[in-house]
Amino acid sequence: MAGARRTPVHVKAASLLPEDVPRRIRVLLPLPLAGAYDYRVPEGLAVPPPGSFVEVPLGGREVAGVVWDGEADPTLPASRLKPLLRVFDCPAMTAPLRRLVDWIASYTLSPPGAVLRMTMSAPSALEPAAPTAGWRRADPPPPAARISPARARVLALVADGAPHAGGLLAEAAGVGPGVVRGMASAGLLEPALLPPDARFARPDPAHQGSVLTEGQADAARALRAAVAEHGFSVTLLAGVTGSGKTEVYLEAVAEALRAGRQALVLLPEIALSTQWLDRFSARFGCAPALWHSELTPRTRRDTWRAVAEGAAPVVVGARSALFLPFPDLGTIIVDEEHETSFKQEEGVVYSARDMAVVRARLTRAAAVLVSATPSLETLTNAEAGRYRLLHLPLRHGAAGLPQVSAIDLRTCPPERGRFLSPALVEAVNATIARGEQAMLFLNRRGYAPLTLCRACGHRMRCPNCTAWLVEHRLQRRLQCHHCGHAEPIPPACPACGAEGTLAAVGPGVERVQEEAAEVFPDARRIVMASDTIAGPAAASEAARRIVDREVDLIIGTQIVAKGWNFPDLTLVGVVDADLGLAGGDLRAAERTVQLLHQVSGRAGRADAPGHVLLQTWNPEHPVMQALIGGDLDAFMRAEADQRRPGHWPPFGRLAALIVSSEDEAAADRAARDLGRAAPQGDGFEVLGPAPAPLALLRGRHRRRLLLKARRDIAVQPILHEWLARVPVSNQVRVQVDVDPVGFL
Ligand code: ADP
Ligand code: ZN
Repeated sequence: MAGARRTPVHVKAASLLPEDVPRRIRVLLPLPLAGAYDYRVPEGLAVPPPGSFVEVPLGGREVAGVVWDGEADPTLPASRLKPLLRVFDCPAMTAPLRRLVDWIASYTLSPPGAVLRMTMSAPSALEPAAPTAGWRRADPPPPAARISPARARVLALVADGAPHAGGLLAEAAGVGPGVVRGMASAGLLEPALLPPDARFARPDPAHQGSVLTEGQADAARALRAAVAEHGFSVTLLAGVTGSGKTEVYLEAVAEALRAGRQALVLLPEIALSTQWLDRFSARFGCAPALWHSELTPRTRRDTWRAVAEGAAPVVVGARSALFLPFPDLGTIIVDEEHETSFKQEEGVVYSARDMAVVRARLTRAAAVLVSATPSLETLTNAEAGRYRLLHLPLRHGAAGLPQVSAIDLRTCPPERGRFLSPALVEAVNATIARGEQAMLFLNRRGYAPLTLCRACGHRMRCPNCTAWLVEHRLQRRLQCHHCGHAEPIPPACPACGAEGTLAAVGPGVERVQEEAAEVFPDARRIVMASDTIAGPAAASEAARRIVDREVDLIIGTQIVAKGWNFPDLTLVGVVDADLGLAGGDLRAAERTVQLLHQVSGRAGRADAPGHVLLQTWNPEHPVMQALIGGDLDAFMRAEADQRRPGHWPPFGRLAALIVSSEDEAAADRAARDLGRAAPQGDGFEVLGPAPAPLALLRGRHRRRLLLKARRDIAVQPILHEWLARVPVSNQVRVQVDVDPVGFL
């Protein structure tokens, strides 16, 4: 193996150094190794500059990596160095992206190669694309060909004489692929090679979008100015649901395009964001490039390459899009910035929202954080003047904010075995009778969260996790929502053998749907949960049916909470408003307010006023009071007052260590060793070890420790020193989570 990077050594007199030192390079590989490795550049190859994508040998394999910054170790004998094999024909990784990799690695205590791997997410894109075949107009056209209306539409599109991709051509002309093939055999079209980036259209900033209201126009102007500064800034774009935040931040995208730079929009549920994509197209005349985990390998490859070449000017994507190789990013927008799904919990544990701000700083771009319910972190940064603040106070058009009230389940309980209170049933009936639409929201998939034997009390648990199995009645299975374990619903209790005694306890959306079918037999219903609405096609079909009024009642989990615009939806009923408060972690109240406010925001987006009914056992709870009174600012101020004295985030720092092992005793031992060796000092303390709430996850036993520090203390050096002092057996994994969001 090539020499691993060592800690700096005393440089010997230059004359003693091997002659080939100028021809040595450091290469970072997308592997969880300690750092960059040194290689030599063989005669006949130019020394590639930092950022070049190169291929090098590693343990008998050939691996692609990136030439990293810094000097190779001059003291290593040349004979120990393996040769660089080749340099890829691919745009180099920019310096700001290399600095981002280093920054995230040191902030999250991850191996730099593990972070690099997130940037090299389409390895085949390092090779230039083989040209693909398309079609162009045959010139001259064959004299006798029949020109149907469908063919005429295709001919109009190819009138420019340029090659077009067959699929796009058919789509744009609204014809089947057979029409294009038929035209080719008739000699109307001839094959032609496409330029490699032809599939990424250029969004047109001059295309006519909505006419902004005065308040929107002011905010848009401020965002355009931030982008035009060509420097680092962060702006919080806050404003009630439906106030036009999307319309406004698209103007930041337009400004980046006008300056010839690129734009990135991060959305939490990209696969379901069909309405968002329609609005983008309405504003810019074509679709943006997409980036998420469901892309085909081919599209992934082409998109990565087009981004690197600057040929994809706008990307909208999930958090992983943050690591695409944009050469010149003008703005990064994080929509629904408060969403916890921006936190990646596996592998490199990072917050895409926070790292978007870091990337913007390194690349001198304007970051825009957008939310109707900003996180306390972001609000605090805005209040401290670190972030600029733009606020849209009004809903667009005639729509006012919905009126929120509580249904007190203590005085108005549902019938036994039911989950919809009489008051909620009546409100849904009245809404549907007026010809409007209603939504029932319950943030829980499946039929029932717990299955219990009425004879012996046995509860059906996941064999791999500390979790109940959730019944999915449609699929006739019990599922673990943590590890994916699934088993058929057993005919008899596995503990006592009694038959017909297994009972469903508590509701999931499937059970609400079952109840709705009985209570509202004439209502046309749709269930929207991640297992029924699995991808973009299903999402857009569901949205179409709702907007076209083929549906009266929507029953859904958190996927219905965000972004949707259903003009005739006027009632939202929250089946269990207390659900999110149960876990009781640091942000449970904040998150519940955010989620319920988001889902409330689906009601009354057009002219008819909206109503929201919260079924709760505790209407006096500050969360319910904040939603009912509509004063989220006061709620967030109270939240801040609670966290400030104890130095809880954002007024202090947290880092979690999650110790896990398949061997329970080994996990305990390592957690105890870490606990005993916990660092001590002024301004920080270590809590734990304690069993994690998910004490068993995917077959691994888990223990947690928490480092809690004042805000002015950097936790990374403390963690480094601590972890270096405590050897753990190789059966044990210690995962570091800086700025934890989840505490399971
Ligand atoms: P937010 O992102 O704040 O929830 P949106 O940008 O989604 O708000 O706007 C809500 C609705 O109002 C959308 O249907 C949008 O098309 C419409 N809308 C907002 N501003 C305008 C405008 N200036 N002209 C026309 N429609 C608008
Ligand atoms: Zn499980």
